[in-house]
Amino acid sequence: MSQVTSRMQFDSTEIRELVSRYPSMGPRYTSYPTAVDFVDGFGEADLARSLDQPDGADPAGDLSIYLHLPFCQHLCFYCGCNKVLTRNRERGIEYLDVLYREMDLWRARLGGARRVRQFHLGGGTPTFFDSGQIRSLVEQVGRRFSLDHDDPDHDFSIEIDPRTVDTADVGALADIGFNRFSIGVQDFDPDVQKAVHRVQDAGHIAALVAGARSAGVRSINFDLIYGLPLQTVGSFRRTIEQVIECLPDRLSIYQYAHLPERFAPQRRIDAATLPSVEDRLALQQLTIDMLSEAGYVHIGMDHFALPNDPLVKALDDGSLRRSFQGYTTHSDCELLGMGVSAIGELGDCLYQNRKDLPAYYAAVNAGHLPLERGIAISKDDRVRRAVIMDIMCHGKVDKVAFAAAHGMTFEAAFPEAREGLTRMAEDGLVESGERLLSVTPRGRFLVRNVAMLFDRYRGTDAPARFSRTV
Ligand code: SF4
Repeated sequence: MSQVTSRMQFDSTEIRELVSRYPSMGPRYTSYPTAVDFVDGFGEADLARSLDQPDGADPAGDLSIYLHLPFCQHLCFYCGCNKVLTRNRERGIEYLDVLYREMDLWRARLGGARRVRQFHLGGGTPTFFDSGQIRSLVEQVGRRFSLDHDDPDHDFSIEIDPRTVDTADVGALADIGFNRFSIGVQDFDPDVQKAVHRVQDAGHIAALVAGARSAGVRSINFDLIYGLPLQTVGSFRRTIEQVIECLPDRLSIYQYAHLPERFAPQRRIDAATLPSVEDRLALQQLTIDMLSEAGYVHIGMDHFALPNDPLVKALDDGSLRRSFQGYTTHSDCELLGMGVSAIGELGDCLYQNRKDLPAYYAAVNAGHLPLERGIAISKDDRVRRAVIMDIMCHGKVDKVAFAAAHGMTFEAAFPEAREGLTRMAEDGLVESGERLLSVTPRGRFLVRNVAMLFDRYRGTDAPARFSRTV
């Protein structure tokens, strides 16, 4: 898809009219089935059934570990994450203690010191903890699993809230072994920052980037958000200009999903100050144009990377996949998520830990894996997942390869998608030939809607628990 992104102009009125005819809410497909489709009450017996079957988890397979660290000192008004607001550091100490016990439970369940090639600290705010605590945490992980610092492709990453770290901290984090930093920038405009209650200085962020680079951090990601209150094309242009000056290796540019009925902090945002659908499309177009001009490759949906980044290689060789952290190059690793609300994928199942902190503590302290919800992935899910991931990651499905892999034609496998595909083809969103189903440049605005045609849990519409597709 990278080849089609650089000069994708659109008529905003036409696109607005077009998107109004399709479901406006849809999954981001960081997994399939999506987290919304998990079943309440999925527990240890369900997990065991899935892991213990012959094609369940590979006991010698490599792992990607995600640890959720939920604490935040300040509330960002756009927040839709599972977090705990506190300034009390003692709460963090208690949490780490329980987290180590959860690691013991998983270590016993999975057996063996499995090699970890990808390790991510997310939140919340991982840098709520000081670098000494983070060093201990990594050591504790290393006692139970085999953190592979020698693998040239290993990714040990951490989300950084610039308000909680200084340049000495980034040096310490690099020394602990983190080689990827993901910095929460969101927007550099002071008015937008005030409107979302996240004020952080651009000069400080540039200093953190310089400090990380001189400490040997090999990859820096910036998280940005478009669709925030008071954002305009002019203000966001200035933000992206400042971003390009810092030259991060990767950019994740998310669309703000305003769901105040679901996320209480968002009720503090005045909906009248949010950009319109047309403005959001213009912000999206501006982002793609400016970053393409600066040499970035559009990896897909909300991710960009410099041409020498492994994500671009994965895009080109077809190995790119989506995970709960966005696009990934480690699709061969099983995901072990730990911590309150963490999501994982092991063997034939997806699971989510308890989202409520006391319930999470109670389960672990009673010696149980703290599972709350999950789903066993069926054969049908696997087939659909392959198609949805191809659409989301590569903008196309090779029908000939599909038939060879699954012993049936693409058309025979998805008769329910035929009508939707015909309509999308008439609207110029997809092209369907004998060999390929492809998403057109115009269809990329609605790529999630294309994927939804193959999602057996969605039907023709999606519940309001998802974010807007445009
Ligand atoms: S957006 Fe991130 S840093 Fe802000 S309150 Fe939510 S979890 Fe915390």
